[in-house]
This record gives sequence, C-alpha cells and structure tokens, in this order.
Amino acid sequence: MLKAYKYRMYPTKGQKEMFSKHFGCVRVIYNWALEQKIKTYEQDGKAVSRFTLNKMIPTLYDEMEWLKEVNSQSLRGATLNLDNAFTKFFRDKTGFPKFKSKKNPVQSFSVPQHYEVDFDGNKVKLPKIGWIKTKLHRRFEGNLKTATISKTPSGKYFISILVDDEKDLPAKQKFNENNTVGIDVGIKDFAITSNGEKIDNPKHLNNSIKRLKVLQKRLSRKQKGSKNREKARQEIAKLHEKIANQRNDFQHKLTSRLISENQAIALETLNISGMLKNHCLAQSINDVSWSSFVTKLEYKAEWYGKIILRIGQFEPSTKICNICGYHNKNITLADRKWQCPDCGASHDRDVNAAINIKKFALNKQNLIGI
Ligand SMILES: [Zn+2]
Repeated sequence: MLKAYKYRMYPTKGQKEMFSKHFGCVRVIYNWALEQKIKTYEQDGKAVSRFTLNKMIPTLYDEMEWLKEVNSQSLRGATLNLDNAFTKFFRDKTGFPKFKSKKNPVQSFSVPQHYEVDFDGNKVKLPKIGWIKTKLHRRFEGNLKTATISKTPSGKYFISILVDDEKDLPAKQKFNENNTVGIDVGIKDFAITSNGEKIDNPKHLNNSIKRLKVLQKRLSRKQKGSKNREKARQEIAKLHEKIANQRNDFQHKLTSRLISENQAIALETLNISGMLKNHCLAQSINDVSWSSFVTKLEYKAEWYGKIILRIGQFEPSTKICNICGYHNKNITLADRKWQCPDCGASHDRDVNAAINIKKFALNKQNLIGI
C-alpha cells in the first residue's frame, strides 16, 4: 500500500539556491517535453513516449550546460509528471497540460530514488544537495518511493515522501442499496448526500474565504510595483496556505467518515472546466476543492476495501424526480426546491440529485427508466 508523508524542511541559504536550480531546470525540461509532444503530434499524429523523451534529455546538455548541476533523475521526474498530467487530461477531461511558469504559486521537483531519511537526526539527504534539516514528526516503515520537494508562495519548503509498506490492499466487499451513499457537489453547501445530509465547509474555512475576498479587493487598489502591494500580495499568499490547510483538514475528516459509514460511494464525474466558465457558478464552485475531495475518497476507498462508483457527467441528476422518474426540463439553477408535476413529490434540489446519483450508479447501465 502506498502512503504519502509530508514534512517541513529547513534548508540553509546554499541549499535554497540548489532547490531553486532544481525548480528551474525541472520546469525547463517539463516545458521542453510538452513542446516535443505537441510538435510530434502535429507533425506525425503520433505520441512521443516518456522513455524516448528521457533518452533525449542528455542531448540538451550541450546547449544548456547548467542542467548538469542538478539531479538528472529529477529531470526525468519532470517527464513522468507530464505523463501524469496527460493521463488526468484524458481521464478527468480537465484542461490540456499547460506550460509551467516561473510564477506558478507552488514550485516543485521530484526525487525518484537515492535519498535517505534519518529520523533520529531529523534530516533528509538528497542527491546533489546533501543533508537538509527536516522536521520528521512522524515515523513510517516501508520502502521509499518518489519524494517531492515543494516551495509554497510564502517561502516554506516541504518534502512529501511516498512509502510502500508492502502490505496488500484489503479485498473489496459487496455493496447494496443499503450501504451505498450518493454524493452531489453543492452550490450552497460543499456536498449533499442521498441520506439528506447537507455538509457545509466549516465556519473557520468560510471565514478565511471571506477574508480572502476582502484582501484581494484591497490588493487591487494598491499601486503596481509599490512596497504596499508586495506586502498585500504576501498576506494573500499566507491566507491561501491557511485555506488550503483548513480545507485539507476538513476533507480528511469528512472522507474518513464517509468511507467508514458506507461500503460504496456514488459520485458524478464533473466537468469542472465547463462549470467554471459560468461566471455565476465560478464563485461558489471550487474545482481544486472538489477534485482533491474525490482524490482522498478514492485512495481511502483503496485502503479500506470500499468502492467508488462514478456516473457520467451528462446525466440530468437534478432534473429527474427520484420517485417517479419524471424529467422536469424547466428546472433552473435558481430552483432550490421543486414539486414533481407528475407524482406531486416535493424535492430539495440537491438531495434529489444525490439520490439520483446513487440510483444511476446502482443501475449499471447508467440510465433510469423515464
Ligand atoms: Zn415524480
């Protein structure tokens, strides 16, 4: 079983410089690899593999000698990350992989192997960089897989270590109507279940989001290039981190509970990029939030032998009466509650949708009789 452990790092000034070289070189390789993929596809309609790209990396050394200063395995890690971005693009229909910019809020590089962890000394040794002070607050046992080093916008460094504990995953157990829950993404609430439960973001998280809006407005009024603008920008970066932490914490608790209470969880595959184009929705739907929630559900389901059922994104889950199957085409985003013209049942829009998601998922053919 693979698990990730994340720790704060405290590099020296020299080590920070080496980190920054790695961030830069990995970004160059990533962008170069993306360009190769696009070019090859345009010219011959073929996909160029990661292995071909990795073989080509040394040919870049003549032109860009500084690439030699960093761990060559981290450079190859960049092509793997690009592969993952393409997989996500095809599987989740998220945006086409983008070129990475120096201005990306989080900078990162991976170290696939040949690093060491010293729990007693609270340090981690990375190739080409050496021992780095790291707060190893939690011990783990197992084989070290890829480590990822990242830098946040407020200048903190972290290492995330993937560990294989070599234990087998539990077998998936059977599920039925009674131990399956449907979950719908909310507009007002974070999520709604087919049991009628509405789950909102915790108050402190909502307060932070409100504060972010205030700070962003303030920033827009500051003069470009001024010291005050830079200060406001830093403040926003810190708040973004705080929000990410609060959200992560909330989602961990929520996903653990949902996984322990149910044998199967039904979800709709969302077309987030399509939804964000709708300006009205963009304010309330946070794509990062929902997709990281689903990711957590997926890996915890693996850990505990539970099942995630997905239904297609074009199912009209909000418009079908879950009692009689009537398709009410007149429902708009503004309709929070509605009554079925056919059977007369009253529906809460979101709970009805969650029930339908569960029904569609349990109906293998993804269709409901209407
Ligand atoms: Zn009805």
